[in-house]
Amino acid sequence: MRCEGRRLGHFRGGTLRITCGCGHSGDVPVLALVSRHGQEARVGDAVATMRCSGCGARRVKEIRWLS
Ligand SMILES: [Zn+2]
Repeated sequence: MRCEGRRLGHFRGGTLRITCGCGHSGDVPVLALVSRHGQEARVGDAVATMRCSGCGARRVKEIRWLS
């Protein structure tokens, strides 16, 4: 499901799997993003501040929510 435009508070936990344009993906707990950005932040905006641990760039290709 596409979730970039949803607010972090919508998910109430779970994990976001973020895939970079380089193909590397990483899992981030929703609560970790909430503690940094707040419940009202949009998923796309919160994730956009993160850097890929594979290539070091910020180019999110896909965000998936793993319940
Ligand atoms: Zn990357």
